[in-house]
Amino acid sequence: MTDRVAVVGAGQMGNGIAHVFAQSGFLVTMIDISQEALDKGRSTIAKNIERQVKKGTVPPEDQAKILGRIHLATELESAAEASLIIEAASEDSGLKYRIFTDLDRIARPSAILATNTSSISITEIARRTSRPDKVIGMHFMNPVPLMKLVEIIRGLATSDETTKYVIDVALRLEKTPVEVNDFPGFVSNRVLMPMINEAAYCLMEGVAQPGAIDQVMTLGMNHPMGPLALADLIGLDTCVAILEVLRDGLGDPKYRPCPLLKKYVAAGWLGRKSGRGFYTYSK
Ligand code: NAD
Repeated sequence: MTDRVAVVGAGQMGNGIAHVFAQSGFLVTMIDISQEALDKGRSTIAKNIERQVKKGTVPPEDQAKILGRIHLATELESAAEASLIIEAASEDSGLKYRIFTDLDRIARPSAILATNTSSISITEIARRTSRPDKVIGMHFMNPVPLMKLVEIIRGLATSDETTKYVIDVALRLEKTPVEVNDFPGFVSNRVLMPMINEAAYCLMEGVAQPGAIDQVMTLGMNHPMGPLALADLIGLDTCVAILEVLRDGLGDPKYRPCPLLKKYVAAGWLGRKSGRGFYTYSK
């Protein structure tokens, strides 16, 4: 099985994905157009491994080994040697189509091209390549080192071999793969995003303050995190992008992003990653 992978995008998901692959013994090339994102991604991984060592889930002698398996690059060409490439760049369909067209040219003919998209059609992404049978969704959850689920999304042309291959990879990462079909938002965000959106409407309409909305859902529904805190963790820009895919892909206005969510994004209030969203965060 593959031992060399590339991760495209070093943001909150990309660095988490690079982390879990390196922890399972894979050699990882983490690629981003921004050197700053790469440096930040690497220091986040280092901090998270440190935390795992303190908790006793990673032996201290493995700390340097895991970090040593991750190489940084700013050029997509650095993915040329990988047998599996996982794209985790921003949730923008045009951007993902361009990346997959380029990866198809750069990657080995046998390489599998996976995307961590939250909502964009795998079938449409695969169409941008000459190997749609080798394109698949590998949707990790945030924070990647802690969350067990990987939603595996088959595009229309994805082969059984590709599906089996990424399921085996997910198991090697000690994750639980769950297979679903390609529809906007898949299962995870088809169900989650309308709840987050409705919570934003509750705030906009003055039904309750953010803390109260989240408390109703944590204490009342036994959710580990309230929807507004979760939206801040995901990134409000990503939430708006997913809702737009749901609205356009399913053709139903019930998925339209709440104007308050859009206003926050316009202000640069993106959640935890920018220091402010529904809540404020100190660095
Ligand atoms: P992010 O904003 O933290 O990071 C995105 C990164 O992509 C940035 O570092 C940016 O510089 C980089 N990037 C942009 N264009 C690029 C290019 N051409 N080549 C290489 N890198 C490029 O976003 P994120 O939250 O990590 O989300 C990444 C993907 O994962 C999205 O598709 C998102 O929908 C999906 N996802 C997000 C979550 C979540 O909770 N945030 C959960 C599951 C899946």
